Amino acid sequence: MRANTPIAENIAEVRARIRQAAQGCLRDPAGISLLAVSKTQPAAAIRTACAAGIVNFGENYLQEALEKQAQLRDLPLCWHFVGQLQSNKTRAAAESFDWVHSVDRLKTAHRLSAQRPRRLTPLAVCIQVNISADKTRHGVHLTALPALADSIAALPRLELRGLMAIPRADDAQPQQRFTYARLRQALLELQSRHPQMDTLSMGMSADLETAIGEGATILRLGTAIFGPRK
Ligand SMILES: *Cc1c(COP(=O)(O)O)cnc(C)c1O
Repeated sequence: MRANTPIAENIAEVRARIRQAAQGCLRDPAGISLLAVSKTQPAAAIRTACAAGIVNFGENYLQEALEKQAQLRDLPLCWHFVGQLQSNKTRAAAESFDWVHSVDRLKTAHRLSAQRPRRLTPLAVCIQVNISADKTRHGVHLTALPALADSIAALPRLELRGLMAIPRADDAQPQQRFTYARLRQALLELQSRHPQMDTLSMGMSADLETAIGEGATILRLGTAIFGPRK
C-alpha cells in the first residue's frame, strides 16, 4: 500500500480484493462488511472514507473516539469499539458505540448491559476469543467460551452477535488460517443454542483473503484503507 494513495482509491482497491476473494470461495461479497479501523486517523480521514461509501468505523481508544465522534455528528456513522476495554471505562462505550467487538469477561459485559441507555437499541457485542490460549494475549479461552456466551446472551441490554479474533501479527499464513477456521468452528458450535449469532469479526489488512476463505463477515481494516499509521 503506497502511503500517499488517496483513501477513496484504497477503498476501491480493497473492495476489488474482497470481491475477488469472495469469488474464489463462492461467497456473496454482500455478506462481508467492511469496518474501517480509524484509530490514530483524524476526523477528516473518516469524512473522506464516508464520502466513499463507508459507514462502519472502528476505534481502539475511547477518549480519541469520543473527540472524533463529536466532530462527525452530522454523518450517519455506525461506531464499533475494537480496542481493549477496561471495566472502569465501559460507560462511554455503552453510551457512544453501536458495537463492541472485544468483550472477553462477564464483568465487562454486565457493566455494558447495565449502562446501555434505554433510548438506544441493545448494544451489539462480539466475544473476543484467544484461540492460541497465549497468556500474553486478550480474549477468552475456547474452553471458557460456551459458559461466557450463555451468560452474555442472557443480559437484557446486549445483543450477542458473534466472535472476534486477532491472530498474532507474526504468525505465518497457515497459522492465521487455523485461527480463523477454529473461530468459525466455535461459532458453529454456539449457533445451536444462540442462533442469533451471525458474525465472525476477523481479517485485517494483511490477511483479509484468508479470513474471507474461512467465513469472515466483518473485516477490520486500518492500513489498507487509511495507509500506514504514524
Ligand atoms: C488496528 C486494528 C485493526 C486494523 O489493522 P490493520 O492491520 O491496519 O488493518 C484491526 N483490528 C484491531 C482490533 C485493531 O486494533
